[in-house]
Amino acid sequence: MSLTRVIFLGPPGAGKGTHAVGLAKAIGISHLSTGDMLRAAVKAGTPLGIEAKGYMEAGKLVPDALIIDLLFESMGDESKGWILDGFPRTVPQAEALGTRLETAGIQLDGVILFEVPDQVLVERISSRLSCPSCGAVFNRITQPPAKEGTCDRCGADLVTRKDDAPEAVTQRLVVYKDQTAPLIAYYEDQGKLTRVDANRDIGEIRQDLDGIFA
Ligand code: AMP
Repeated sequence: MSLTRVIFLGPPGAGKGTHAVGLAKAIGISHLSTGDMLRAAVKAGTPLGIEAKGYMEAGKLVPDALIIDLLFESMGDESKGWILDGFPRTVPQAEALGTRLETAGIQLDGVILFEVPDQVLVERISSRLSCPSCGAVFNRITQPPAKEGTCDRCGADLVTRKDDAPEAVTQRLVVYKDQTAPLIAYYEDQGKLTRVDANRDIGEIRQDLDGIFA
């Protein structure tokens, strides 16, 4: 059976977003990124965006209650396929998702853990470029845009996200270890976890993922 309801788990900079976009498109399922949803809310100046902005810029997690509501509103029909990218990030978020799926009689097919050493993460994030308009992500070294400083997808000027600044990155890694890494054991205990060595070429990682999703 192919995987259609999946969580991408891993530290910031591990490549979850890049691969979620590509795979979701190839398979025809939704890519649900809570980070993208929050950035859209911040940009639109909604009450949620105003509340979330400070946490995000400091590299901290947005409170569970806010993010759970946000994700569930966007999920729509859970029976359709999705890749959750950046959610859950805490055990309470995972429990809320589990309850929601159970109530709907739907099973989580799997959790893919993207593993990358810390040193590589810091280097990757510090060379990351993001599009403030359409959310596309590039990397100065590994995935440069065709035209320097310009988004390939929509033509906007690329920027470095505030939470990709070195102080915020260090904080995000601490938060990942404290609050998100416990989910590794949580899903391993449920027999759902598959580990992927994400410290490789994008193409090699994609081949592994295609094999897992096939
Ligand atoms: P991301 O683009 O996934 O790295 O998310 C960027 C920022 O949004 C994070 O550093 C958090 O501040 C916030 N965020 C995204 N997803 C979550 C989540 N599931 N729980 C709490 N905060 C989140």
